[in-house]
Amino acid sequence: MFGCLFTLDYEIHGNGDGCPYELMVEPTERLLRLFDQYGAKLTIMADVAEIIKFKEYWQEHNEDVFYFNQIKQQLQQAILSGHDVQLHIHSSYFGSKFSNGSWDQNWLEYSLAELPYDRLFEIIGICKSFLEELIQPVQPDYRCSVFRAANWSMSPSYNIVQALINNGIKIDTSVWKYGKWDKIVQFDYSNAHSDLIPWYIDPNDVCRNSLEGKLLEIPIYCEERSIWHFITRNRLFRLNQASKHKHPASKFGYSAATQSAEKKTKSTVSKLKGLLTKKHAWKLDFNQCTGKQMIKALERIEKKYEHLDCDIPVVSIGHSKLFTAQNSRSLESFLKYVANEQSKYYFATFDEFDTTTFRALSIP
Ligand SMILES: [Zn+2]
Repeated sequence: MFGCLFTLDYEIHGNGDGCPYELMVEPTERLLRLFDQYGAKLTIMADVAEIIKFKEYWQEHNEDVFYFNQIKQQLQQAILSGHDVQLHIHSSYFGSKFSNGSWDQNWLEYSLAELPYDRLFEIIGICKSFLEELIQPVQPDYRCSVFRAANWSMSPSYNIVQALINNGIKIDTSVWKYGKWDKIVQFDYSNAHSDLIPWYIDPNDVCRNSLEGKLLEIPIYCEERSIWHFITRNRLFRLNQASKHKHPASKFGYSAATQSAEKKTKSTVSKLKGLLTKKHAWKLDFNQCTGKQMIKALERIEKKYEHLDCDIPVVSIGHSKLFTAQNSRSLESFLKYVANEQSKYYFATFDEFDTTTFRALSIP
């Protein structure tokens, strides 16, 4: 059977803009209500680095303008209702300051996997303990054991993989096969071990499996698709949001001049040709794909992997800040479909899988 696992990146805009109530608490409340109607389970990947900053601000100014207490209550309540909360870290919030209506982050620590081992070990340890101390008052046996990197940054792999293992993290869920970024954060997951089947990570390369690996990768499901599959209303909404809340590129040493020089090397015509003819990494994103697209993807997965006789997680990704009313209607059709196809699919959280079966499956 296939366990549908919905992971929600819970955070404000990447450049530090935005109100945590509007971008995190309110949409997640709607999402949880929708999921509860169908018995679906949400795994909230909470960016603990920013939540720590929201708490500090409340304690220093005696004013909870970043809604820390509502965030805490929401995460505790989610756990009590059978959902899950796990760890997401945007390291640039460490050392950040709130100024001129936005969090001015420590951009030198933006690219997570490039940080030195000691710093990674320290940051992951602080965030994991914070999350456990936040949840354990309502569920004493709660453990933080699953991780998603900021901007999916798991390459170069060695430092971050060791830092996760040595902090007791068991599962990473950052990789999406075919994914490639070469700007502020760089990675190339084209050769990832699988689009769906979990693997134990070779510490030198998150994309490779190793029978002795100690950290399990449960990838975000991804396919290669033509550009036409990317045209959805919610994707346009995301593009609009991204253009309004741009990163201050100059702070990364990635200047406008560099960008335009790079752009000139390729003509507009050849870029357009590439866009239309090449295939692109299409993540199973429950905010940006339509319900219909998600149902079709699940059917393709079932066809490709039905021969496996163990439960396989199908990880989709979303962002609380992108959950619109239109998205809600479309996602509901997918939840209905999964709820009605009980012989093939079920709603899952990470702790429900027998991870030992994946070691045998990842034998090349
Ligand atoms: Zn994030």
